[in-house]
Amino acid sequence: MRIDLHTHSRVSDGTQSPAELVADASRAGLDVLALTDHDTTAGWAEAARAAQAEGLGLVRGTEVSCTAGGISVHLLSYLHDPADAALAEVLADSRSSRDGRARAMVDRLAEDFDLTWAEVAAQAGPGATIGRPHIADVLVARGYAADRGAAFATMLAPRGPYYVRYHAPEVTEAVERVLAAGGVPVFAHPRASTRGRVVSEDVIRELAAAGLAGLEVDHRDHTEADKARLRALAGELDLLVTGASDYHGAGKPNRLGEHTTAPEVFEQIAERGRLEVVR
Ligand code: AMP
Ligand code: FE
Ligand code: FE
Ligand code: ZN
Repeated sequence: MRIDLHTHSRVSDGTQSPAELVADASRAGLDVLALTDHDTTAGWAEAARAAQAEGLGLVRGTEVSCTAGGISVHLLSYLHDPADAALAEVLADSRSSRDGRARAMVDRLAEDFDLTWAEVAAQAGPGATIGRPHIADVLVARGYAADRGAAFATMLAPRGPYYVRYHAPEVTEAVERVLAAGGVPVFAHPRASTRGRVVSEDVIRELAAAGLAGLEVDHRDHTEADKARLRALAGELDLLVTGASDYHGAGKPNRLGEHTTAPEVFEQIAERGRLEVVR
């Protein structure tokens, strides 16, 4: 069984439709895929139809944008009820704040570069969660950056003049909301220090006490030392250990199935989540 529990489609900052992503996952030899677009469940229905047609297991998930006292962190929620009003409101608030933030960043960039909001919006699928990757794609198309990574390292960097923050819930609150919605909360890439500051182990201990289910350990943004430390912490706190690609289509070098999750861990997640795995 090859199980990849963290991927993105064009419903957030991936570059493929949910159906294309599922077809690619099938071609890559995966047995189970989780679709985890940022702050949305809008891709679930299309992905579910495609997964049933391809004979692939689909875990419906969301990567929830959060903050831990000012540090940006991502929480994966698996198999939660999309109709849960409190969690849906958190996600809607993040999407709307992200939208205003992306417009503000484009306004700032437009003072120095030739680009428009319409071009940025056109990079994202309908109803997609808009983020810096979509702005990056326009900067690349316009020839201001070689690829997304170069745009992130320069014009879109948090310390740069064009960066604008967006509102996200505190991660402890997000864990509680995910649990209340029947979801299984897993901390995404907890030590990915290339993306910015990371939380202390105390924060992870607090989240475990609040009901966090697992840590995403096997991820390309972790060093071997990060993985060893996280594995030890997961053992101590009785947390599940997952691995995943964080695939973004052509938007990042990450390849489907480059890291995977053990079948026993997947079974635990499937058992704890309120929704069924689509098969
Ligand atoms: P945002 O959430 O809008 O601030 O943008 C962060 C998103 O951009 C993350 O979800 C990543 O998927 C993506 N990202 C972060 N760093 C890079 C990078 N160096 N190259 C491409 N995508 C990136
Ligand atoms: Fe992303
Ligand atoms: Fe993430
Ligand atoms: Zn992700």
